[in-house]
Amino acid sequence: MKVELNGIPIFAGNFDDLMKTLYQRIKGDQKTAVISANPEVLHYLISKNFKFDDEYIFIPDGIGTCLIVLVSKGKILKKIAGIDVFYEMLRSSGKLNLKLFFLGARDEVIKRAYANAIDKFNAKVVGYNHGYFDSHEEETIVDKINLLSPDVLFVGLGCPKQEEFIDKYKDKLNVKLIVAVGGSFDVLAE
Ligand code: UDP
Repeated sequence: MKVELNGIPIFAGNFDDLMKTLYQRIKGDQKTAVISANPEVLHYLISKNFKFDDEYIFIPDGIGTCLIVLVSKGKILKKIAGIDVFYEMLRSSGKLNLKLFFLGARDEVIKRAYANAIDKFNAKVVGYNHGYFDSHEEETIVDKINLLSPDVLFVGLGCPKQEEFIDKYKDKLNVKLIVAVGGSFDVLAE
């Protein structure tokens, strides 16, 4: 269920296939990092010769990536947006007993996003941190996340900061699933 684009395996199933895969991997304690591969992110990954392992799933976030795949590979992909994964997990975290952590956005924004996640979705958000930190603060943030041991970490720092953070700390983070969500906290905060 993948199509290879310049060495990057792009998830080629639909949204339900993806969610099934993610929930199965959470259940099986298989760490996973979901990267929204829009053209900007793809460009970053390719230009940096980004090294990835089996824990990564690259989703075709946006019509741009689907068009690139169609033109270069002749394959029709269903667009899957990172924000849809985010909202689906907000809705199901209570039922599935999944603990969530939010990392990213401005301080007042992430506070509002947290409040809305609880009020509107009854989501199990165990903690949050804004996304405007210096590199020397990163380890402290990783420790804070690990202390709360969430199942799912959403990282919304924009590209390429979120991809770099995930790459650098994926192995140290004691979480089952990491999802790059771009500006999704701003949307939830509205
Ligand atoms: N952001 C952050 N730290 C930074 C830079 C950006 O937390 O150092 C946040 C920003 O506040 C916004 C998100 O990252 O919430 C990026 O949103 P954008 O719409 O640019 O990302 P995209 O969805 O286009 O990847």
